[in-house]
Amino acid sequence: MSRKNKHIPQRTCVACRQRANKKELIRLVHTNKGVVEIDTSARKLGRGAYLCPIRSCWAIGLERNYLERALRVKLSANNRRALINYSDNLSKEGQL
Ligand SMILES: [Zn+2]
Repeated sequence: MSRKNKHIPQRTCVACRQRANKKELIRLVHTNKGVVEIDTSARKLGRGAYLCPIRSCWAIGLERNYLERALRVKLSANNRRALINYSDNLSKEGQL
């Protein structure tokens, strides 16, 4: 084992409240355009929130408005649909 014990940033999924390595979660960002975008580069500016890469967390986060609360945004219908479309490509349940 390396003696350099690098600190791995931990983030919390806004839906299931599980903590995970930042890299294992998907970052969403509330951009200055008032739109929530999926930030695969994790470098976009704006208020960010994290979700697990599983569909159930996205469903919970969107339906119960955890995401909106975390990002302090009101999702437009189009924006919400785009996020749901994205989550359709994720695996159904946790395979972590
Ligand atoms: Zn989660």
